[in-house]
Amino acid sequence: MNPSMTNLFPFPEFNSKKTPRVIAGPCSVETPEQLDTTVENLVKVGIRMIRGGVWKPRTRPNGFEGIGSLALPWIQEVKKKHGVRFAIEVATGNHVEEALKAGIDVLWIGARSTVNPFTVQEIAESLKGVDIPVMIKNPVNPDLGLWLGAFERLESVGLTRLGAIHRGFSNYRDTTHRNSPMWQIPIEFRTIRPEIPMINDPSHISGRRDLVASIAQKALDLNFDGLMIESHFQPDAAWTDAAQQLTPEVLGELIGKLKTRKVHFEAPETLHQLEEIRQQIDEADREILEAFARRMHLVEKIGAYKKLNNVAAFQRERWQEVFQSRPEWGKKLGLNSETVEEIYRIIHQESIRRQTEILDQ
Ligand code: PEP
Ligand code: MN
Repeated sequence: MNPSMTNLFPFPEFNSKKTPRVIAGPCSVETPEQLDTTVENLVKVGIRMIRGGVWKPRTRPNGFEGIGSLALPWIQEVKKKHGVRFAIEVATGNHVEEALKAGIDVLWIGARSTVNPFTVQEIAESLKGVDIPVMIKNPVNPDLGLWLGAFERLESVGLTRLGAIHRGFSNYRDTTHRNSPMWQIPIEFRTIRPEIPMINDPSHISGRRDLVASIAQKALDLNFDGLMIESHFQPDAAWTDAAQQLTPEVLGELIGKLKTRKVHFEAPETLHQLEEIRQQIDEADREILEAFARRMHLVEKIGAYKKLNNVAAFQRERWQEVFQSRPEWGKKLGLNSETVEEIYRIIHQESIRRQTEILDQ
């Protein structure tokens, strides 16, 4: 168990059981019956912390915007009846005040709020002097600074129980995900703030229930500290995010199949093998860089030749040919052609930069 997780959630019943830690519950609290039945079934599959939206930020107006404060007594009721902790989203100082009064255990700041420093500041100020666990979702846009800044705003009023939720980033052309995961962003977050637990929200990344398991597994493969997954006792009838919610039963099966990974290699012989392979990787990287330097040297030679003949640096036909052939060569070597194409985009950029430098000398 990652110690930062026990700091975030100082609840013995949540931390005594096996990993992975899963927070689950409906996208929105809808009715007392929906909440009670969902929570009852979630408890049966071992869930001890429930999520549920009370105030819902909707992209377009006129949709269901959450039950609001009326739902807070229903939450108090299921907490008492089923012995669970409860997490809700807050987006204003008023939400915070009402949530605290109702005895909510954990708060989270939604992706649409994290983008707005005024909103985050307002939430921070309303939390002054209250060290309640708060999770901060990544902003909808892939801006690591905004995400980190939200933590700094909450820390500056004295909050210490903070966690991050990776829920993916808005996109235009990603046909697989509702929100592109861009895994490198939470990874970079963790290299900067390794002490902050990172929770993955596969529901909002996928937007569809058949993808939830594979994204959750990927998060565990990357050593995330926990998961937040939407679950509803009748997913298809859910008032919000119907396509991505799972029944508690399906969620229970999914959790049973997830594989948790160790943080480090442990046995000395695996460590030794690891060291050997890493040495070979170092060698391969040196070869890559030497080849890259050699290529750039040749590019400069052509640059000088172009200057002599007063020819433009960018030669469209040549680059079309390069972009065509390299991914194909790569594929024959067992490489992903899209990755090779991306690498050549960077190589092209650098080649053009070097040649224009020569042309402009
Ligand atoms: C939610 O958790 O239901 C939600 C609105 O998520 P997000 O802020 O990630 O869009
Ligand atoms: Mn949702």
